[in-house]
This record gives sequence, C-alpha cells and structure tokens, in this order.
Amino acid sequence: MPELYPRLRAPLMLALALLGWTLPTPSRAEWRDRTEAIMGTRIYVEVWSEDAAKGDEAIAAVMAEMTRIDELMSHYKPESQLSQINARAAEEPVKVDPELFDLIKLSLHFSEITEGAFDITYASVGHLYDFPNHVHPTEAQIKSALPAVNFRNLLLDPVNHSVRFEHKGMRIDLGGIGKGYAVDRGIDILKARGIKHAVVTAGGDTRIIGDHMGRPWVVAIRHPDDENKIVTKIPLIDTAMSTSGDYERFFDENGVRYHHIIDPHTGHSASKVRSATILGPTATETDGMSKTAFVLGPEKALEIINRMPQYDAVFVRPDGKVLYSNGLQPPPTKPPAASPAVK
Ligand code: ADP
Ligand code: MG
Repeated sequence: MPELYPRLRAPLMLALALLGWTLPTPSRAEWRDRTEAIMGTRIYVEVWSEDAAKGDEAIAAVMAEMTRIDELMSHYKPESQLSQINARAAEEPVKVDPELFDLIKLSLHFSEITEGAFDITYASVGHLYDFPNHVHPTEAQIKSALPAVNFRNLLLDPVNHSVRFEHKGMRIDLGGIGKGYAVDRGIDILKARGIKHAVVTAGGDTRIIGDHMGRPWVVAIRHPDDENKIVTKIPLIDTAMSTSGDYERFFDENGVRYHHIIDPHTGHSASKVRSATILGPTATETDGMSKTAFVLGPEKALEIINRMPQYDAVFVRPDGKVLYSNGLQPPPTKPPAASPAVK
C-alpha cells in the first residue's frame, strides 16, 4: 500500500495515542468468546457481558478453574490427587480434598442409577487402551484386569474423606464425568459475576445459561460418520447437554471399532449406539448419564431416562435410526378439528 502523507502520519499517530490514553475506552455490552485446550480437550466459553473487559475477565476465570480441576483430578498427571489414589489406595486409605471425594461419591451414585454402565473403576481395564497409538489389550489381558472393575469395591470414608480400593489392580479415572463437572463450576463462576447469558463447553459437555438474543441457543448433534452432517438440532435455554460418540477417540482394526467408552462388564468398547446425547439440569449429571446407552443399549437407557423427568435423550443406533426420549417426542398430530356445525 502506498504511504500517504508520510509527514502527517507521525503527529497523527501521536495524537491518536494520546487520545486513547486520556479517554477511557467506552465499555460496550457484547458477546465475548474464547477457545482453549485444557483437560486434553477443547474448552469454549462465550458470554454476553455489559462490559467487554469484564466479560473477558470472567472467561479467564473459567479457564483458570478448568486448569485447577484438571490439576486435582487428571489421571495423566502423576502429582494429581487422583493419581495418588491410583498409586496407593489398594494398600491404604488415601485422603483427598472434599471436592474430589464428593465427585467420586457422585460417580458411585451414577453407577447405581445406570445399573453399572457408568463405572469409574472401568479404568482398571481402560488403561490398557491407547487410542492415539492404536493399542488395545489382548483377551488374556482383559480377563486378568476385569475382576478389578467394580464400583462396589471402591470404599469411601466420609469422616476422613479417604478413598480405598478393595481389590488389587484397581484404578479409577474421571474422564467420564470430570468435564461435565468442570463445565458446572465454570457456570457457577459466570453466575457469581452476574452473567446471565453464556455457554461453557468442555469436549462433549455443554451448559447454557439464559437465551441467545431473545431466542434459544440451537445446538446440533453431528452425524457419527460425518462431522459436517447433522442428525438433529435442539433449541436450549438454561440446560446442560452431553454427547458421547464412538467417533471421538477411536481406531478401526479388522472391521472392529475400538473407542473410548468401555463396557465395564466386558472390558471391550461399548457399541450398542453410535452416539448418545443427554439433556438435563447440570453437565455433571448429563456427562454421568451419557455413557449408559453405549453399554446397556438404547431401549434400556430410554427406560431409565424416561423414569427421570429431569433428563432427555437422543440416541443414534448403529443402523442410523435416531431415538428420542418421551420429553423430546414431537407432539402427536391432532386429528383434523371437526368443522363447526352450520346452522
Ligand atoms: P468426553 O471426554 O468428550 O466428555 P465422554 O463424556 O463420552 O467424552 O466420556 C468418555 C470418557 O469416559 C472416556 O474417555 C473415559 O475416560 C471415560 N469412560 C469410558 N468408559 C466409561 C465407563 N463405562 N464409565 C465411566 N467412564 C467411562
Ligand atoms: Mg463427557
């Protein structure tokens, strides 16, 4: 680009800089958003803020919270409290922060209501998989690790906040609930700062507060084989939503898909659906519930979801059929209204 009026440029820049320095930038209400990689996944936060700078500060606080939770609960970080449990709880009770203790306790509750489909001790066999490197355990390895998978052998002492394994070789990982939990803590932070319209997403887990410019937020569920195709769209206000899919962390070998949702009863990847979406009040809950249909099958999972009015679900079966829970069924088409009697 040709330089215009080069002699005028410097004084003009100086004047502008001074103006910028003396006049505070007017604050404007606007949408602010940011994406970061934390907890081995994509974190996305978008807020409507009366003041852009305050919006950015709120987003930064959510990101810091995600990092804090990751440091406490990651099974990849040897210094985390969760790793301390895995290293020692088969020998002695391991005392942990009440926050981690409570999430483990809640995980046991989800094991109960999902009839064992959700089980954080799945990690006793789950750690034998390495999806990025296309590694899966042999049948013999699964057979010897599987007896350690059982949430009932995870003993919690509520007085000392300690965790103990009743079986050798046991491990836990919170990959199936930690992101939903982190999303909820992020939403708490935004609410405490007076933010009324926002979305927080960590991997497959999302929670929304308020609406989006007077309308619901519209969230799409992708096709399991094509991220550019959409199975359905759902309008949401003040809701959490978790989607689990067999296309997230996987590899295919000899026609078999090895992916990151493991059936605690068999030690194999659980393949009764291709994807499962749960809607509910909090992301911790929807995350804890989104593995159920993979393990128990969509019919059984729908039975469980339909018993609990706070949850809804969308399942994509291996044959491509999409199943909805009762709360999402389209209203039955009414018979045509009888024409008014003509007198
Ligand atoms: P995302 O990590 O995108 O939120 P999911 O919510 O589908 O994905 O959770 C998948 C993760 O859950 C796995 O990577 C693993 O850490 C954990 N997991 C796998 N199988 C089970 C299971 N049966 N019960 C509890 N957690 C599981
Ligand atoms: Mg999840």
